Amino acid sequence: MTETFFVGIDGPAGAGKSSVSKEAARRLGFGYLDTGSVYRALAWHVLDRGFSTDDPAAVEESFETFRPQVGLGPDERSVRVGDADVTAAIRTPETTAAVAGVARTLPVREKINRLFREIAAQSDRPGVVVEGRDITTVVAPDAPCRILLTAHPDVRAARRAAEIHGSDVREVAEAMRRRDASDSQVVDFLTAAEGVSVVDTTELDFDQSVDAVLSVIDEARQGGRDGR
Ligand code: C5P
Repeated sequence: MTETFFVGIDGPAGAGKSSVSKEAARRLGFGYLDTGSVYRALAWHVLDRGFSTDDPAAVEESFETFRPQVGLGPDERSVRVGDADVTAAIRTPETTAAVAGVARTLPVREKINRLFREIAAQSDRPGVVVEGRDITTVVAPDAPCRILLTAHPDVRAARRAAEIHGSDVREVAEAMRRRDASDSQVVDFLTAAEGVSVVDTTELDFDQSVDAVLSVIDEARQGGRDGR
């Protein structure tokens, strides 16, 4: 059995990470794992049990009963926790606000990271694109292909605001700045670690961003084949 080719993609919100990673996986016939959705699902689970994610002990304890189900198909959107379909619930402002507490709970991060490695290894596809905040640095620092997808903060805010119907760009920019600041206390997803390829999408449209990512992946696969 050949090993699954692991592609790690990190970056801040609004860089185009999810849509670009998903499309790259689709075109390559690879699996796709959105690690943010698992953090969100755990935040939902903590709230559902009646706890606050600001309480690290409650987050740790909730992880013990956390049974997430995320498909690796780039077109499988559904996320479940036990019997509950939480696909929509994990995107509400309430869950989004609660996820930072989960992200800050370091012992839980270690367990979640183990879960990500297991899910990726179980894929029956030739490769898997795993996107998040610390994939290139913590989850899979030895992966054959690691990418940091970035964009200028103004461009990221404008893209996010366009996704959220009727939203105000300044408010979205402020919410994003707060989330970036909170997240970057835990992991540095704004600068590339050694060996990580940067794809800056500030001046790129969606198709150009996908092409840029595919060409980095292609080069990494060639490198592997040539034994470099
Ligand atoms: O990518 P998304 O916005 O869905 O991620 C939600 C949150 O999950 C992030 O703001 C961050 O706090 C957390 N996260 C993380 N590490 C990852 C993926 C997500 O801490 N690998």
